[in-house]
Amino acid sequence: MYETYPAFNEHGIAVVWHMKAKQSTEALCGHVLIERIERIERNNGTNTMQAETVPHCRPCMTSFAQLVNQDS
Ligand SMILES: [Zn+2]
Repeated sequence: MYETYPAFNEHGIAVVWHMKAKQSTEALCGHVLIERIERIERNNGTNTMQAETVPHCRPCMTSFAQLVNQDS
């Protein structure tokens, strides 16, 4: 089971949607998800996490596609 998780990208300057296993604290791209999105929202005000404005993490998407292909 995988889920999307909003967190800073590897540069720490933008928020992206990572993919991670349900119980994991590490995204599929290897990014450790220690930043809580609540903190990001406090820093930037409301509406930061509108899904349509937040890009997906490319390495995560690539890894996720490979995982899905392996399962089928
Ligand atoms: Zn990622």
